[in-house]
Amino acid sequence: MTIRHHIADDTLMAYVGGTLAPSLSVAVATHLAICPRCRDSVAMMEEVASLYLEETEPLSHSEKDKDAALLDQIMATPRTETAEQGAVSSLAGPAIGSVPRPLADYMPVPLDQVPWKRLVPGISHYPLPQPGGKRKGSALRLLKIAPGTRIPEHSHSGQELTLILEGSYIDEIGRFQKGDIADLDNEIHHQPVADTDQDCICLIATDGPLKFSGIFSRLLQPIIGI
Ligand SMILES: [Zn+2]
Repeated sequence: MTIRHHIADDTLMAYVGGTLAPSLSVAVATHLAICPRCRDSVAMMEEVASLYLEETEPLSHSEKDKDAALLDQIMATPRTETAEQGAVSSLAGPAIGSVPRPLADYMPVPLDQVPWKRLVPGISHYPLPQPGGKRKGSALRLLKIAPGTRIPEHSHSGQELTLILEGSYIDEIGRFQKGDIADLDNEIHHQPVADTDQDCICLIATDGPLKFSGIFSRLLQPIIGI
């Protein structure tokens, strides 16, 4: 599996800092289980965070600037080939069926036995239990898109993480294949189309409801419930 689309540094920092919404954290942990490059980034961030914690004196303004510059420098350091292959960290748990462990923990049934609920022709979903209890605008779900099906154009009022579990799709950003994650905020309008060879199954974590653009899409929104 070659992963080409990764988690944004801002999202990883929120994950490391424990401020990321629980639903988004499940998607991040699931991608980390299969992505040495993002695990490597997390390790660097944890190292920087531990340096902060070691500081006993409150930082002056200029020291804070210096630390921010150091963090920027670390994050700008090119990732090496060895980092890409990376040592397996504790985040890389065994997969259960075709689903990495962090997600499998939230799935009542294996992926090939999911009782899909049809939304519209070509699009089915399966809501997963809400991690950390119900939270307004936050959701974790699986989406199954039939080959060649187009998802209505939408943008987000919060953040959306889409992790490809099976198949692939293409949108304005590029082609997303198994293991890739799309980390989208409210700047992005997109309209994914599933590739034609097989169903595309994704894990979608949202924090903040989606905003659909067209009239048909707005009618669809209450049905999808996101
Ligand atoms: Zn990654």
